[in-house]
Amino acid sequence: MERTCGNGTLRISDEGREVTLIGWVAKRRNLGSLVFIDLRDRSGIVQITFDETMAEKVKDVRNEYILQVKGTVVKRSAANPKMATGEIEVLAKEVVIVNSAETAPIEIADDSSTNEDTRLKYRYLDLRRPVLQKNMILRHKVCMVARKVLDEKGFIEIETPILARSTPEGARDYLVPSRIYNGKFWALPQSPQIYKQLLMISGMEKYFQIARCFRDEDLRADRQPEFTQIDIEMSFGDEDTVFATVEDLMKAIFKETINVDLEDRFVRLTWDECMKRYGSDKPDLRYGNEIIDLTDLFRESEFQVFRSVADANGVIGCVKFENAADKYSRKGLDKLQDFVKHGFRAKALAYLKMENGTLTGSVVKPLSDAEKQAVCDKLGLKDNDLVLIIADQPKIALPALGALRVRLAHELELIPENVYKFLWVTDFPMFEYSEEENRWVAAHHPFTAPKEEDVERLFSDPGSVSSRAYDLVLNGYELLSGSIRIHDQELQEKVFEAIGLTMEKARERFGFFLDAFRYGTPPHGGVGIGLERLVMVLAGTDNIRDVVAFPTTNSSLDLMSDAPNVVDKAQLDILGIEISNKDKD
Ligand code: ASP
Repeated sequence: MERTCGNGTLRISDEGREVTLIGWVAKRRNLGSLVFIDLRDRSGIVQITFDETMAEKVKDVRNEYILQVKGTVVKRSAANPKMATGEIEVLAKEVVIVNSAETAPIEIADDSSTNEDTRLKYRYLDLRRPVLQKNMILRHKVCMVARKVLDEKGFIEIETPILARSTPEGARDYLVPSRIYNGKFWALPQSPQIYKQLLMISGMEKYFQIARCFRDEDLRADRQPEFTQIDIEMSFGDEDTVFATVEDLMKAIFKETINVDLEDRFVRLTWDECMKRYGSDKPDLRYGNEIIDLTDLFRESEFQVFRSVADANGVIGCVKFENAADKYSRKGLDKLQDFVKHGFRAKALAYLKMENGTLTGSVVKPLSDAEKQAVCDKLGLKDNDLVLIIADQPKIALPALGALRVRLAHELELIPENVYKFLWVTDFPMFEYSEEENRWVAAHHPFTAPKEEDVERLFSDPGSVSSRAYDLVLNGYELLSGSIRIHDQELQEKVFEAIGLTMEKARERFGFFLDAFRYGTPPHGGVGIGLERLVMVLAGTDNIRDVVAFPTTNSSLDLMSDAPNVVDKAQLDILGIEISNKDKD
C-alpha cells in the first residue's frame, strides 16, 4: 500500500508537502461541516481535516477504522502544543477506508481509564496505545545497541537450550514433561548460567545472548514468570574487564535511546560498606541522607537503652533529614515507628528535632548535655532538622534505617528526576544461612568464586567468606548480577561441600559440568542484565508490564489467552501424567 511517511513524523518543515498516510482512527470530531480525525500509526498521531467535500466520505468512520489518506500538510491556525505534530494538520484530498472496526472494549489512549485487567485481556488493542508502542520500540533499540556494542567488542551471540536441565539460581524450575521418556522432565532455564560457562570451556572466549529466563517464584508485583537477560560471559578477564564492558554498554544504550551522557566509570562500593552507609545492597544514590553511626558517642552513656546496645556489639545509627522536623508530627512519627517495628523487627524508633535552636525529641531527656552536644556536632544539626535513630543489632538497625531513608526521601520528595546513579556493589557474602533448610546456601549461585584470601574459612566460618559476586545498581534497582566464577575443579567441589552438597549429589546434578572442568577451564566471569528493569528505567515506569508485550498479571495469569489452562486427558496420557489434586485450589 502506498504510504509516504509515518503520521507522527510530520513537522512544520513539511508544510506544503503532499503525503499519503495510513493509520487507525484515534479520535473524530465534527465541527459544523468539517470533520477532524486523529490518525494514529506506530510513529505517532496527526490530525487530518476533511472539508465539506470530503466529510461525506468519512461520515460513517468510527474509532479504530483504518484509513489511507492522501492530502497536503498545512500549518494549523492554532497549534496544539501537546502533540508532536501539533503545528500542522493534513488537509485530506482522497480517502480509502481500508477496514472497519467494532467498538473497542477498552479505551485506547495513553491515559486510558480502562482498568488494567481488562486492558490485559485485550492486550493487542492495549498495545495500540502510543505509550506502549514507544516502550516496545525502546526495548527493541536497547537490544539493537547491545548487539552492536557487544559485536564490536568481539562477543558472539550464541543460543542455548530452552529445554534444559535444572540450573541453580535459587528459584523453582518450570518443568516440561518428556513424552519420549515418560516420567522424565526438562527444566526451563532459570538463566543460561551453566551453558555460558561451558561455552567458556569450549573456547568461545566472549559470549552474549538476549536470553529468555524462567523462574517459578512466589507472586510478587514486579516479577514475571519469564523475563529476558542480556547475558554475557567472558574468559581471561577479572572484575575490571567485566565492569568496563558493562559500563561501555550502558553508556551506549543511554546515549542512543534517551540521549543521556553517563559518567565514564561507575562508583564501586563493597557490600559491607553499602550496608553500613545505606542499610541496603541496592541503594539509591540520587540522594544523600546516609546512615550515620553514633555508637561511639554512647559507649559510656548513662542511658541504658543505648549503652546496652553498644555493649552488645549493636549499632546506634541514625538518618538525618534537613528541614523536615515540622513535616513529621507525633502522628507521622508513630507511623514511622510502626513501619520499622512491623517491617523490620526493630524494637523502637527514637527521634530528635532541632526546633528554634533547641533540641527536642524522644531521647532528649535521657541524654546528658555533653551527649546532646556531641550529637549536634557530629550531625551538624541546623534548625528544623529531623534525626531518626535506631539502636539495635546491625542486622536489624541498618536495614530499618535504610528503609527509613528511602521512605522519607519519597515522602519529602528529595529524589531528582532524570538523574541516573549507577553503583557497583562488590564482595557480596558468599553464603547465606537458610533457617528453612538448616544449612548454608550460595548467596549468588554455587559457581561464584570466593575471595582468594577467604577460601581458608570456607568450612570454619562460612558466614565470613566474601565472594567475587557483584551487582550493578541503578537508582535503587538491581540492574544485573554477576560474578567471577570458579575455574578450578577442586575449589568447585569444596564450595559444593560447604553448602552441604555431597559429592554424590553434586555429581548427580552437575556431573557433566564438573567433568568439563577437567579439560582446561579458563578463568572467566560475566553478568546477566535484567532487560525489563533496564527498559523500565529508560521508559520512566515502575510497572514491568509496561515494557513487556504480552505480560502476565501479578498473579501469573495470561488474561488474554487464559493461560495456564487445562489440557486434554489424551495429551496427559501420552505423557504418562495423571492429575491427582485437581480440586486442591
Ligand atoms: N546467572 C546469573 C543470574 O541470572 C547472572 C550471572 O551470574 O551471570 O543472576
